[in-house]
Amino acid sequence: MGKTEKYNHMKLIKEYAGGHRHLITLGRCLAAISAIMTLIPYYELWKIIRTAVNGENLDNIEVYAWTAVGLIVGALLVYIVALFCTHIAAFRVQSNMRSSLMRRIITLPLGVFDEDGTGKIRRIVNDSTAATETYIAHNLPDKTVAMVTPIGLLVLVFAFNWKIGLICMIPAVIGFLCFAFMMGKGMQEKMKEYQDALDNMSSEATEYVRGVPVVKTFGQTVHSFKRFKTCIDGFGKWATEYTLMLRFPMAGFMTAINSIFAFIVIASFVVTGDGIGSADILNIMYYIIITPLITVALTKIAYSGEAEMTLIDALKRVDKIMEIEPLEESESKKEPTDHSIKLKNVTYRYKDATRDALKDVSLSIEPGEHVALVGPSGSGKTTLAELLVRFFDVTSGEILIGGVNVKELSSQSLMQQVSFVFQDSRLIKKSIFENVRMCKPDASEKEVLEALKKAQCMDIIEKLPEGIHTVIGEKGTYLSGGEQQRITIARAVLKDAPILILDEATAFADPDNETKVQAAFAELSKDKTLIMIAHRLSTVMNADRIYVLDDGKCVETGNHEELMNKNGLYKSMFDEYTRSIEWKVGA
Ligand code: ADP
Repeated sequence: MGKTEKYNHMKLIKEYAGGHRHLITLGRCLAAISAIMTLIPYYELWKIIRTAVNGENLDNIEVYAWTAVGLIVGALLVYIVALFCTHIAAFRVQSNMRSSLMRRIITLPLGVFDEDGTGKIRRIVNDSTAATETYIAHNLPDKTVAMVTPIGLLVLVFAFNWKIGLICMIPAVIGFLCFAFMMGKGMQEKMKEYQDALDNMSSEATEYVRGVPVVKTFGQTVHSFKRFKTCIDGFGKWATEYTLMLRFPMAGFMTAINSIFAFIVIASFVVTGDGIGSADILNIMYYIIITPLITVALTKIAYSGEAEMTLIDALKRVDKIMEIEPLEESESKKEPTDHSIKLKNVTYRYKDATRDALKDVSLSIEPGEHVALVGPSGSGKTTLAELLVRFFDVTSGEILIGGVNVKELSSQSLMQQVSFVFQDSRLIKKSIFENVRMCKPDASEKEVLEALKKAQCMDIIEKLPEGIHTVIGEKGTYLSGGEQQRITIARAVLKDAPILILDEATAFADPDNETKVQAAFAELSKDKTLIMIAHRLSTVMNADRIYVLDDGKCVETGNHEELMNKNGLYKSMFDEYTRSIEWKVGA
């Protein structure tokens, strides 16, 4: 295993703990004191055995016994206080981590949520912070106990008979070596692979659940979930390989630490070689009682190592989100002068992609103009639309809205200018009323109803049990993809931004829904600058201007007639489209 740089997780934890960091230190000190207090009764026990074996004053036994009981109860109480301290600190760390993450997440470009998947981000916010909380609250005091106990045990083991002590240490050393071997086998790397696999499964599971309505609506098959199955199969394979890799060192570790009794037998023969005396009986009895503690201590150390690796991995995941560059917010208070859009030599390449998704695209849209983007799948239509609202920032070139570079507009001002309805627009688990007025929180019920009417949503509202106050996703109230899109259109109608970006759905469950969505789009785009990502050419014929994209480049521009006369890509796409319609009619 290559040497990895030491990750200072405690420093990071203390930073998140802020003023509560001292509670962590106090908790650990108390845990150490409790560990020592737990060991002293074994000395009292030795005195009891000695009193009994040597026939000394038996009254002393009661004193020793009560001292032991007192120490054990005291140790327990001290440990409870230690846990109390670490729990308070742990909750503070978890809450601070979640707040920092949430503060960071809202500054991130919207595109990050596409790239990394909301499932993954949700898992980091929930699970990684929870792992940190568990580590501080439980594993840290346990680890302190696990570290202090062996030192105390060494004293106890060697203080009474060093020969027996030495023999008893042999399995402990073998166990330790097996453990060190396991840890050396790229364990941190394995832990990362394990967490990555969990992340992928979580992401895919979220997509799977979200995808169910689409799959049902569009009559797809179980093969649509191939990625989900692949990542589960991959995890199964990984887990098997990992288990097989560790089977020998783990078996060695467990055998060694559980074979300490066998070594006591050997030790008994060694010390009683010259004949057995009362001191030997005392020591052997004492060692029979104390040696299981070595097993317990070593097991605890093993588990605390594992907990630490889980924590380091969790912290690194949190770091990964914290390291994503937030969307640059401009200091300038520039406001757009009109509702035009201009792209000047815009090039964009996705993170880690090998080729540009958009290449040197320039276009100009006048205020109030209705423009359609067409082109084969993967030609860059969605990327272009997403760049306009800063899902990402351009790799080179610039985008101007109302004459101002979008990077120089505050995000608030940009969002006031532009409304977008993408295909996968989602509703949150609140009432339709709240969903629609998200963009205008003070909108009245009358305004919301008006917007819903314009977006052709009244048939949806009428069939819901509590009308616009029905909570989506509750009591079996679910909407189809087309119905959800109409509600998001109502949201955009209410927002009434002067620039609109619409992503037409690629397919609809039924013609009625399609007609209604088209009518809602038409109502929404009145008197607005409109950019429509068109997937079916029937809807673009009336556009003022059509931009044809191919492989990230803008290859043709003009209105329908002009493009048909050019005899280029648009014409061939349109002819293809007409043929497909005729074929359907013929069929
Ligand atoms: P369209 O909307 O025309 O179908 P897109 O804008 O979605 O096309 O995609 C343009 C190109 O960018 C395609 O080659 C696609 O594979 C790539 N692409 C889209 N989204 C991502 C992403 N998140 N990461 C990497 N590449 C992407």
